[in-house]
Amino acid sequence: MMTLKAVLFDLDDTLLWDDRSVQEAFEATCAEAARQVTVNPEELEAAVRKEARALYESYEPFPFTKMIGINPFEGLWANFTQGENENFRKLEKLAPGYRTESWTRGLRALGIENPELGYKLGELFPAERRKRPFVYEETFRVLDTLKGSYKLLLLTNGSPDLQKEKLAGVPSITSYFDHIVISGEFGVGKPDVSIFQHALELLGIRAEEGIMIGDKLTTDILGSGRVGMRNIWINHHGLQSGDEIVPAFEVSRLQEILPIIANA
Ligand SMILES: [Mg+2]
Repeated sequence: MMTLKAVLFDLDDTLLWDDRSVQEAFEATCAEAARQVTVNPEELEAAVRKEARALYESYEPFPFTKMIGINPFEGLWANFTQGENENFRKLEKLAPGYRTESWTRGLRALGIENPELGYKLGELFPAERRKRPFVYEETFRVLDTLKGSYKLLLLTNGSPDLQKEKLAGVPSITSYFDHIVISGEFGVGKPDVSIFQHALELLGIRAEEGIMIGDKLTTDILGSGRVGMRNIWINHHGLQSGDEIVPAFEVSRLQEILPIIANA
């Protein structure tokens, strides 16, 4: 039997309930829009998500954001003030215009020509997102249970300033981790094997002595599998895993990892 020495955690939608934070920030921002002009808030949210995605994909640093793992809706509230790669400076310059233009185009798609409101909503969304640093109900119970018995490492894809801000929004969460690895600081994101190897080096363990916990098959599960590490997929939405990426274990919520780890 292999002795488990370390547990590696993804951050977004594994320990932090980012989906809910983003969803509620959209709802609050679109509700404000509906107070200013005649617009259906759900239709506006759908239009802005679509326009933001298309605009984000049109930017020169888009391949870099994909490689690091920064999605279009993170781009709507990120400032990109940190990170050594020159692409972060390009993103820092693009961000204000991206925010305004995404909301202005979303309004326009619904027949509302109002760049001034687009700007206001573009600035309101980040403020609304920053008010909502949600964690799952069991996050701290799970971390408390594991702390002391295993080394804990946080392995997150994203922009350094934004991931640090997400962590700062949840006081004391960083104190649980022996190491925190952010793809934007390391230079390459999950599922690349190099970031998993870097994590193993920091922990001073072999791949068989760690287990990766994450909600995303194409990053957390694929990458950990590539280095020979066991993994647990948190499948919140009851998705099919398919044949290509096969997790060692699958659960539907975070707290279910505890009995698996106890027997690993
Ligand atoms: Mg995640």
